Amino acid sequence: MISRDRRDWSECDGEANRFIEYKRENPTKRDPFERTKSWKEFQIIMPEPALRQQGARCMDCGVPFCQTGTTMDGSGEIGCPVYNLIPEWNDLVYRGKWKEALDRLHKTNNFPEFTGRVCPAPCEGSCTVAISDDAVSIKSIEYHIVERGFQEGWIVPQPPSKRTGKTVAIVGSGPAGLAAAAQLNKAGHTVTVFEREDRIGGLLTYGIPDVKLANQTVERRVKILEEEGIIFKTNVEIGKDVSASQLKKDFDSVLLCTGATKPRDVEVEGRELRGIHYAMDFLTANTKSLLNSNHEDGEYISAKGKHVIVIGGGDTGVDCITTSVRHGAKSITQFDINRQKPEERTEKNPWPLFPIVHQVEDGQKEAQAVYGTDPRSYQVSTTKFVGDENGNVKEIHTIGVETTIDEKGRKIRTPIPGTEKVWEADLVFLAVGFTGPEQRIIDELAVETTSRSTIDAEYGKYMTSVPGVFAAGDNRRGQSLVVWAIHEGREAARECDRYLMGSSNLP
Ligand SMILES: Cc1cc2nc3c(=O)[nH]c(=O)nc-3n(C[C@H](O)[C@H](O)[C@H](O)COP(=O)(O)OP(=O)(O)OC[C@H]3O[C@@H](n4cnc5c(N)ncnc54)[C@H](O)[C@@H]3O)c2cc1C
Ligand code: SF4
Repeated sequence: MISRDRRDWSECDGEANRFIEYKRENPTKRDPFERTKSWKEFQIIMPEPALRQQGARCMDCGVPFCQTGTTMDGSGEIGCPVYNLIPEWNDLVYRGKWKEALDRLHKTNNFPEFTGRVCPAPCEGSCTVAISDDAVSIKSIEYHIVERGFQEGWIVPQPPSKRTGKTVAIVGSGPAGLAAAAQLNKAGHTVTVFEREDRIGGLLTYGIPDVKLANQTVERRVKILEEEGIIFKTNVEIGKDVSASQLKKDFDSVLLCTGATKPRDVEVEGRELRGIHYAMDFLTANTKSLLNSNHEDGEYISAKGKHVIVIGGGDTGVDCITTSVRHGAKSITQFDINRQKPEERTEKNPWPLFPIVHQVEDGQKEAQAVYGTDPRSYQVSTTKFVGDENGNVKEIHTIGVETTIDEKGRKIRTPIPGTEKVWEADLVFLAVGFTGPEQRIIDELAVETTSRSTIDAEYGKYMTSVPGVFAAGDNRRGQSLVVWAIHEGREAARECDRYLMGSSNLP
């Protein structure tokens, strides 16, 4: 265990206040214009001296909010949801003790190579240095620790030394299912993961574009999990190919990690026109075709030469931009129904909460580099789609809206007279969120749901209304983040282990 006063400043070639001396360096990525010409991952490795400097910027403050992972008074979330031991590994990186840093990292996070690439890093918003300067580059350090671990061959299968004889079925192979599988296998249970897709990974594989998180990165980890003894069954849909009740009979426990995959629609006139797609249909088909044939099979929706409009200002919308730019779209516009976020934190969003501020995401930077402008238009609400004589979409009609919050906390959208507009559109992607998990397996198991139509399983316990059936990840908490899915998968594994064995040593 590393003590709090562990930093030996005599080893430093400067003063103790390194966060003043060194400036933050953001993750290194290939040039936004150049990288749109390929489908390769765009994050690249930083040189070691720069990384050690970044590690040295950590203040090792007495109360590390960065690793706290909690909710503050209902006003927002702070810190790392998997409670990564951030100050400890920052210091180890600063000292060049990479293997020790990796061991500390793996104690709390099964898959730092996923979070190191795609986590929005709530830890950094809660970093003490960020009160008066730029946060420590925590996410980037996490990414480099784990990549170094793979390069050096330190990350190898570690099968459990003995088996308990208990069996667990996990439905869904996204980050929640994978984290739960890793933990339950570690506890010695025989784990089978059922996945209806042809590849493992859930949204890590068929949601987040390959340029942000390459499939090889997911496969690299899945191979290790397989060698540790986890059984993966792809192309098996529970509720269709195998009944959920059969699964319950065949296994000692069942864990549902099925995600929240039901897309929200934009129900306005003209919705039936050709060329209007849910974002996930576009993203999934694109990655499948890319991985299967480098797009040679043509089994995807092409944005080449099209005027693309993405409805929805969130991450899924940005991923549609990332993909459309690479197809060679003629133009790309992203509608955000909300106002542009402020440049600085407001009084209602103080440190250490996750900062709600204006950002230009990677996909938006790419669109800016290729088309010359930020693709976003704010406070835009779609009123109708208009088609040509062949039933293809050709226009979107919109009106500006003002958003207010009523006394019950609901968002009220009020149209602004005189702000009507018509936009040329050949291809429209609906990226306005998800309404919850799919119903079939829920109905078959007669598992209770909440008023938000997520699976009803108490946070921290994860048991559904059906004994022995657990739920974790997006199907329980609603669409969220990879890091939260990993957190829930780990905790649900602990609860499942407790159910099977009477007690659990899992964290
Ligand atoms: C386009 C997009 C981009 C995103 N980008 C980011 C990002 O950059 N960073 C971030 O932190 N979060 C991101 N998210 C959110 C993040 O991906 C999810 O919160 C996370 O993947 C949820 O994990 P999960 O394991 O609960 O579910 P999922 O990843 O959704 O996995 C569920 C799996 O269950 C399978 N399944 C469902 N039903 C069955 C069945 N009956 N039988 C067998 N298999 C079944 C599905 O095929 C799927 O593979 C993004 C989400 C989307 C949609
Ligand atoms: S998992 Fe996310 S929140 Fe946690 S340390 Fe990594 S980047 Fe930060």
